[in-house]
Amino acid sequence: MNSIGILVLINIALAVLFVTVWSRVDAWLNERQPALRPVGLGIVGGFAAIAAMMFPIHLSPGVFADMRTASIALSGLIGGPISALCAALPAIVYRVSLGGVGTGAGTITILLAAVIGAAANWNAENAIHSNRRILLFSAGVAVVPQLAFFVLPVEVWPKTLHGLIIVLPLLFIVVLMTTHLLRAELRLRETIEQAKLYRLIAQTLPESLNAKDRQGRFIIANPATARALNAGDPSALIGKTDMDFHPPELAASYRADEQSVLERGKPTHIEQYYKKPDGQWGWLSTLKNPIYNEKTGEIIGIVTHNRDITHQKELERQLAESQQQLSDALANMADGLVMFDRNGNIVYCNARYQALFSKTADLRVPGANIRDIMAASLACGEEVRAPRDTDTPQPAFMQPGDREMHLWDGRTLEVRTRSVGGGGSLVVFTDITRTREAEDILKNANRVLEKAASTDGLTGLFNRRAFDEKISHEFARARRSVEPLSLLMIDIDHFKLFNDHYGHQVGDECLRQVAARLKAVAKRSTDIAARYGGEEMALVLPNTDLSGALEVADQYLKAVRALRIPHAQSSKHIVTVSIGVATLVPNGGDRLEDLVADADRALYCAKHEGRDGYQTTLAFRDERLPRSERRTSLQ
Ligand code: GH3
Ligand code: MG
Ligand code: MG
Repeated sequence: MNSIGILVLINIALAVLFVTVWSRVDAWLNERQPALRPVGLGIVGGFAAIAAMMFPIHLSPGVFADMRTASIALSGLIGGPISALCAALPAIVYRVSLGGVGTGAGTITILLAAVIGAAANWNAENAIHSNRRILLFSAGVAVVPQLAFFVLPVEVWPKTLHGLIIVLPLLFIVVLMTTHLLRAELRLRETIEQAKLYRLIAQTLPESLNAKDRQGRFIIANPATARALNAGDPSALIGKTDMDFHPPELAASYRADEQSVLERGKPTHIEQYYKKPDGQWGWLSTLKNPIYNEKTGEIIGIVTHNRDITHQKELERQLAESQQQLSDALANMADGLVMFDRNGNIVYCNARYQALFSKTADLRVPGANIRDIMAASLACGEEVRAPRDTDTPQPAFMQPGDREMHLWDGRTLEVRTRSVGGGGSLVVFTDITRTREAEDILKNANRVLEKAASTDGLTGLFNRRAFDEKISHEFARARRSVEPLSLLMIDIDHFKLFNDHYGHQVGDECLRQVAARLKAVAKRSTDIAARYGGEEMALVLPNTDLSGALEVADQYLKAVRALRIPHAQSSKHIVTVSIGVATLVPNGGDRLEDLVADADRALYCAKHEGRDGYQTTLAFRDERLPRSERRTSLQ
C-alpha cells in the first residue's frame, strides 16, 4: 500500500477515534454538565482536526491535503454553531502555528467547514438522522472548503488542482463514513438509554414482571418477582421454572395456564388465589402475554405481569356484603319502598311494596312505568281516590311531598315521595290504617271525656266548671255586640225537708226531673242550663232581654209544677222552685259577678216573697231601657 493509502486509513482511523472519544465525553458530560455538551463536542472535533492535520496526505511536492474539515463540520452538524466554533478555534490556532504559504487558505478551509456543519444543523436538532442531509453535507464538506484554493498563490494552483481531484472523492467518502458511524453510535446510545429506562421501570415496579421461554424457564425477572418467589435476587431466577419455587400441583397449574397462552397465542387474564411469601393467602391478578419473534412471527416465550389484588378483593367482598345487608334490610322493612328513575320506570322495589298492592302486584316490578301501573290500579279500582290526571308526564307520585292514599279494602296508606339524584324519586308507602283507626277512637274518647268533664253526672246539665266558662264567654260576647244577657238562678223549695222526708235517693230523682224540665225550657241552642251547686240550677239566656227571661222563668215555674212531684212538707204539697232573674246589657263598667249577684239577690227575694215564683232585682244598668222595666216584681 502506498503512503497515500496509509494516510487515508490513518485519517479514517482518526475519524473512528473521534467518534469513540466524543461518544464517551458526551456521555460523561450528559451526566454532569449537560449544558456543556456542545462545547465538549466542539473541543473533541477540534482536536480530531488537529490530529488530522498531523497526518497530511502528500499529494505532490509541496501540496498537502488532510481530513481536518470532516470532524469540524461533523461537530457543527451534531452540536450546531457552538460546537462548530469550539472545533474551529483550536484547529485554526494549530494551523496558524504551522505557518507556511497555505496558512490563509488553511484557515479559510477550517472556517468554511464550520459554517457548513452549522448550516447543515440549521432548523433540525436531529439533522444526522436525515439521509438527504447527510449526502448534501458530505458533498458540501468535500467541496466547499476547497474554495480556499483561490486564495493560494497562482503558481501553486496547477499542482493543487491536480491534488484536489484525488482528495475530493476521498474526503467525500471519509465524511460520509464518519457521519454514518456517528449516527450508528448515536442510535446505539439511544437504545442503551432506552434499555436502561425499561430496566429501571421494571426494577422499581412494585408488581411482578417477568418473561419465560417456551419451556417455562425465567429469561428475565424484576426484583418484585424475586420477592414474590422468595428468591432473594432476580438473577437467581434465570433458567429456573415455577417447579423450583412452588408446590408441584400449583406449579403444574401455572404451567397449564402458560401452555394455553402458548397454544392460543393470545393474552390471557387470570385471577387466582395464592399463598404469599409471608404465608398468608391472597388474590393475584395475572396477565400473560405471548412474546413473538419479530422476524419469524413465532412465539418464543411469555411475559407475565402479576398484581396483588387482595385488598381490592377484600373491598369487593365488603361492598357485596353491605349491598346484601342493605337489600335484606330494604326487603324486610315494614314499609313499601319503590325507586323510580327520571322517566318513571321502577329501578328498585321491595317485596312489601308489592304486598301492599295485591291487585297490581305483578305489574309493580323493576322496569315497569309508573303511568302503566297507575292506569291499571285505576282500572281495577284498587285506589279509591285516583289522581286527577294520569297522563301528565310527571305524575303526582314523582313530585316530592306527603299525601294519603285510600285503597279499595279500606286501607289508608301514607305516601312520602322524595327526590333522588338524576331526576328520580324514592317513594315510601306506610300502611296507616290502624293509626287512623286509633286516631278516630282517640278523638271520640276525647269528645266523650270533654263532655263528661263539663257535664253534671246526676242531672246531665252542664256542671259548675262549664257554667263558669260558658257564662264568661257569653258575657264577653254580649259586651262586644251590645246585646242583653239574662241569667236565671233556680232553687228547689224546701228541698232539705223533701230529702228528710223521702230520703236522698228520691231527692236525687226529683233533682233529675226538675233538671230535665229546665233543659226542655231552654229551647235555643245557645241557652245554657247548668247545675250551679246542690239543688241550685242556673239558666243562661244569651241575647235575651228581661221580658224574654221572665217569660222563660214563668214557663219553667209552670213546667216544674206540672211535674206534680209530691212534697208532703211543703204548703203547696208539690215540688216547686223559686227563680231569681237578672238581665244586663254589659257596658264598660259591668262585671259578670254583678249579674250573678243580681240573680242571686232576686232568688233570695223570690224565696222571701213566698217561694214558687220568680223575682228580678234592679238589674238594668243600661240607661237605654225604659225605667218601668228596670224594677219588676211579679207576684
Ligand atoms: P229553701 O226553700 O229555702 O231553698 O229550703 P231548702 O230546704 O231547699 O234549703 P237549702 O237550699 O238550704 O237546702 C238545700 C238542700 O238540698 C240540702 C240538701 O239536703 C239538698 N241537696 C243538695 N244537693 C242535693 C243532691 O244532690 N241530692 C239530694 N237528694 N239533695 C240535695
Ligand atoms: Mg238551696
Ligand atoms: Mg232550696
